[in-house]
Formats: sequence, structure tokens, C-alpha cells
Amino acid sequence: KAKAAGRNTLMFFDPTMAEEMTERHELEVDLRKACEDGSLELYYQPIIDLRTGEVVSREALMRWRHPVRGMVPAGQFIPVAEQSGLIATIGDWAIRQACKDAASWEKHVGVSVNISPLQFREPRRIVETVKNALIASNLNSQRLTLEVTESLLIEDNKTTLGVIDELRMLGVTFALDDFGTGYSSLGYLSTYPFAQVKIDQSFTKTVQSSEASKAIIEAVCQLARRLSMNVVVEGVETEQQRIAVQLLGAQRAQGYFFGKPAPVASLAEAKRHVA
Ligand code: C2E
Ligand code: MG
Ligand code: MG
Ligand code: MG
Repeated sequence: KAKAAGRNTLMFFDPTMAEEMTERHELEVDLRKACEDGSLELYYQPIIDLRTGEVVSREALMRWRHPVRGMVPAGQFIPVAEQSGLIATIGDWAIRQACKDAASWEKHVGVSVNISPLQFREPRRIVETVKNALIASNLNSQRLTLEVTESLLIEDNKTTLGVIDELRMLGVTFALDDFGTGYSSLGYLSTYPFAQVKIDQSFTKTVQSSEASKAIIEAVCQLARRLSMNVVVEGVETEQQRIAVQLLGAQRAQGYFFGKPAPVASLAEAKRHVA
């Protein structure tokens, strides 16, 4: 026991670890402020129909305009938000803001919002937030997609399924994000009523070099078609990757090749240029 404690004490004074803890704490303190002072923003990245080349939807990706660190991508602060409990507040805001933004877009363009598994731990809250966001924005509920990851599905099926069904009853659809990573199970695709499956970008990165990646993308596209779901291939960065995933049967794609996540104001600007 003394030995174990000794080891922990040593670990605690490990300078890199102490630095990480300070860093995390700092981020958390700043993030708490950011929730109140409006320095969180939603960027939007287009999702493209590969047959027509048209934008069918846009994924909301959160950014934090940090006074010192500059624009912080979601991947860097969402985990901090989840560990500190701030994700509930931030998540509510993202749903409301995304609905409001999308309501002013072309009527056929949808919006996708990422939802943390932790938001499902307060079932009433997420349902009410979505309902109120739809009412306040006057957005047609069919245009809203909620993206969840497999980590949600291994948690607690009954509550999760209940919340998903209640939201689907409103007309909202669900997408299974980052498919093929983590605890992927083909069973999730038939157990849960997803309208969309998003194939993780790790497969796209290797689509030209790996037979396994090709086979997986092709198989998921076929399966999705049989189950009447649409497929989005994530992380398409080059023309070659676009061609490859299209040949493997993908209907939709998303990635830097088509457009990077961009501030909502730049969408209106792009429209003006066309008009
Ligand atoms: P995700 O939902 O899988 O989002 C895709 C991520 O890949 C985004 O990173 C996006 O900027 C990046 N990406 C898109 N196209 C490409 C590409 O062609 N190449 C490469 N290398 N990357 C690409 P981001 O914005 O840092 O977000 C990371 C993750 O954070 C998201 O993964 C999502 O899980 C989470 N997230 C983002 N916004 C929110 C939010 O509002 N709420 C919650 N709960 N999570 C969010
Ligand atoms: Mg996503
Ligand atoms: Mg993803
Ligand atoms: Mg991801």
C-alpha cells in the first residue's frame, strides 16, 4: 500500500503531468467564461451529394475564439467541456444556434449538430432543448440531423433509445458519426434507427493504399443502402480520394477537398458572390 501511494506521489510530481493538469485547469476556467461572453462560435462544413456536387447539408463544428490561444478547434476543448460538466450548457447553445443559422439557408440544405453522450444523461433537457430550438428558429425539423458516436450506444440502451425515439417523433434524424472506429458493431446499424452513417476519416486517408480500407468503405456503403440509410464519407481531401470513394459506392462526402469548416458569415458571402 505504501508502495502504491509512493508511486502515486511520484507521478503527481512528474513535471509534465503537473503541467498538463495546470493547462487543463486553465482551459476549464477560460471555457467557463467563454460560455458567458460569446466567444464560442459555430463553423460550418459542407456535406456534398457526390452525384450532383450540390451541398445537401452542413455540419456545425464548434470553435472557441480564445483571447490568447486564437481559434481553438473542437477536438481540443470538447473533452475539457465533457470532463468539467460544461458540455451541457455548451451543447444546448450549439443546438439553438445551429437551428437559428440553418433557418436562413436555402430550404433544401440541412444542418448536422454533434451531440456528446453526456447530453443524453439528462434526457428531459436534450429533448426540451431540441423542441425549443426548433420552435424558436422555425426550422423544419426534417432539416436537423443529430450526430452521435458509438460510445453513446454502449452505455445504456433503454434511456438512449427512448430519447432517440422521442426526438425522431419530432422529425429529427440521427447520424452515426466516426463509424468504424472504437467499438464499431454492425449491429448498431440495425438496432438503432439511424438515417445516416458517417464513415470515419481514417478509412479515407488510406483508401488508395489499403485494400482493407477499400473493402470496408464498400461494404458499409452496400449495407447502408440495404438498410435505406445514406452514407457520408468523412475527410475527403483530394480529387483522387473523391473518385475512389465514389467508385466504392459512397453517395455523400465531406472534407477539405469540398470545403473547410468556415464561419457562418462566409456562407452568406459565398451566396452573394453567386448571386
Ligand atoms: P467530427 O464530428 O467527426 O467532425 C469532423 C472533424 O474532422 C472536425 O474536426 C473537422 O474540422 C475535421 N475535418 C473535416 N474535414 C477534414 C479533412 O478533410 N481532413 C482532416 N484532417 N480533418 C477534417 P473538429 O472541428 O476539431 O472537431 C473534432 C470533433 O469534436 C468532432 O468530430 C466532434 O466529435 C466534436 N465536436 C465538434 N463540434 C462539436 C459540438 O458542437 N458538440 C460536441 N459535443 N462535439 C463537437
Ligand atoms: Mg460529426
Ligand atoms: Mg466524424
Ligand atoms: Mg471525429
